[in-house]
Amino acid sequence: MQEDAFLKCVHPKCGLVYPIYSTNVQCENGHVLDVKYKNTPSTKLKDTFYERRNSKGSIFNESGIWRFRELLNFCQIDTESLEECSKFLVSLDGAEGRQSKPYHMSKAAEFLGIEKDGLWLQPEGYNPSGSFKDNGMVTAVTHAKLVGAKKIVCASTGNTSASAGMFAANEGIDCDVYIPAGQIAPGKLSQAYQFGAQIVEVEGNFDDALKQSLDDAQNHDGYTVNSVNPFRIEGQKTIPFRALEYLNWDVPDWIVYPGGALGNTSSCGKALMELYEWGWIKKIPRIAVINSEGASTLSDLYNGEFENEELRWNKGEPNTELISRYYDHLDKEGIRPKTKATAIQIGRPANILKGLRALEFTNGVATTVTDSEMLDGMSVVGLNGFDCEMASGASVAGIKKLMNEEIIKKDDTVVGILTGRQKDAMIPVDYHHNSENTFANPPKN
Ligand SMILES: *Cc1c(COP(=O)(O)O)cnc(C)c1O
Ligand SMILES: [Zn+2]
Repeated sequence: MQEDAFLKCVHPKCGLVYPIYSTNVQCENGHVLDVKYKNTPSTKLKDTFYERRNSKGSIFNESGIWRFRELLNFCQIDTESLEECSKFLVSLDGAEGRQSKPYHMSKAAEFLGIEKDGLWLQPEGYNPSGSFKDNGMVTAVTHAKLVGAKKIVCASTGNTSASAGMFAANEGIDCDVYIPAGQIAPGKLSQAYQFGAQIVEVEGNFDDALKQSLDDAQNHDGYTVNSVNPFRIEGQKTIPFRALEYLNWDVPDWIVYPGGALGNTSSCGKALMELYEWGWIKKIPRIAVINSEGASTLSDLYNGEFENEELRWNKGEPNTELISRYYDHLDKEGIRPKTKATAIQIGRPANILKGLRALEFTNGVATTVTDSEMLDGMSVVGLNGFDCEMASGASVAGIKKLMNEEIIKKDDTVVGILTGRQKDAMIPVDYHHNSENTFANPPKN
């Protein structure tokens, strides 16, 4: 008998299924997995979610993730029973996702030349560990608890380790984090230390750290919480859920993300595919993924800048050999991902296939921005009274670039995701000391 929730390989011709208690992140043929649900959630839940904004003392209503628990009920519990929720669902006292919702930011709109009411920016940095990662970590650690894992393991450009360390500490389980030595913003690394995580320094970049963490997790009974974990993707679906809810389920024209490992892109795509299939939305917003110019794997492949072939999901049969040849080319030429926005300094995005699926379903686009454009994007967000880190500035910079190219129109409705809070204190200080920068406000003496 198949249960209500299960794991399924994304490859249409393979489609192997696994029980929800499985900790595989791939099928036995090496394809990535999705969490699938048999039931179609009723659109009446829209009212339930709205009513839960008055939490009535329940941390599972306060939580911006578990408020939507019927749409990610992989624990297969009675979602109305708070007793059952407390037995299964991990939560930092309801703080995850509680404060992140879309806002209008007039100075950013002015900078972009877009209608003020058409621009929404959603600061996911206002999560307890300071980044969107908490949305997916809370669900991954919930699954870890479901399967009785004693230790979670991840590789990180910084924010994943902060988030994993935080939830592990709160649950009283161990946490190992693999980081590229010397390449993590001190504000992120210090969080992992404070939360008691075991840091493992890897010589090399994030891609090397990920490889080592996956090997070690497998050999030493660790539970992997990187975004290759399909339960991470489930929690991150609530980022577009919150955006859509605050827009009264009036679908925007665009949702814009910085692109690193492409977990966010994948989860947004999955959320939209499900909502559309369930009849919750009639229109599909387009996803725009913004890479850094120095770490542009998705953009290069998607836009045919490598071997003149535009890489596509192709209904589940993407040209994976093209991807392998691209990676070989990077290795052979000694090309390492390079940007000051370390959160997206990734050469081999682990979720590239699901990312491609998201772009195909939403008729999406991928593009690149420079470090200096990201810094301007980050800085103009600050002038509205919200802070975000440099990688998040990619969303603003990407909207600007796509508007210049008339891909995003002046009267489109756009939701840009600001993925994390500023944790690299010297970046804005240095930016403002250089009077040539667009928004520089140097100190007086
Ligand atoms: C992890 C991270 C990203 C990249 O997100 P992906 O889902 O890996 O593409 C972007 N910005 C910040 C602040 C992050 O922490
Ligand atoms: Zn498969």
